[in-house]
Amino acid sequence: MKLIDFIFPPRCPLCGTVTTEKDKTFPLCENCFDLQEKEKFDKITDVADYLPQNKDFYCAYKYNGVLRKAVIKYKFEGEIWMAKPFSVFIIKAIEVYGGFEDIDYLTYVPVSKKRLAERGYDQTFEIVKEISKCKGIPVIKCLLKDNKMGDNASGNKNRHTRVSERRYFFIGNKSEIKNKNVLLIDDILTTGSTIVECTELLLENGAMSVSAAVLASGRKDF
Ligand SMILES: [Zn+2]
Repeated sequence: MKLIDFIFPPRCPLCGTVTTEKDKTFPLCENCFDLQEKEKFDKITDVADYLPQNKDFYCAYKYNGVLRKAVIKYKFEGEIWMAKPFSVFIIKAIEVYGGFEDIDYLTYVPVSKKRLAERGYDQTFEIVKEISKCKGIPVIKCLLKDNKMGDNASGNKNRHTRVSERRYFFIGNKSEIKNKNVLLIDDILTTGSTIVECTELLLENGAMSVSAAVLASGRKDF
């Protein structure tokens, strides 16, 4: 088999089986589709308790099992092709409950420049580029992650402490997001503190509304 034949057919991101975009289970193979139905995220009714400033919140799956293994491969083993199928998970989750009609811009939670240099790609940006291509909505890069701060610094701290320990900064053009509806995308939701912090930044800098979407949630309580 030529390399090009090997690369181009779409594959199920969870098991590697070749699929086609015509399959109703796409991007999953039939087997993984059936398994993932049990891991689907139900409509979240009380998410306002956790993400009070987000207009809407979308999440495709629970972060466990084979999906978790696939995400780890995607993030740490250079399996960048998974960005496309993962983008379809997020698109489908949004289209079930909301849709893209009101969204002016996509943006995302970035990795730090240090991590980007180590890894060679920003896993969430790769997914967001695919969503942008599919839905025709522009991506703006307007958030920067501080190199020095850890990934889970502020989960249990109060807002006052958090503000003094900000991990993200707004580096965009305020006039670009002024009065716009922004969809903020992250790969995995753990505590939710990252979404809260980045949403605050976008609103402080003029966005009219911020909805959030993630591939999967590791929270057990909603
Ligand atoms: Zn599969």
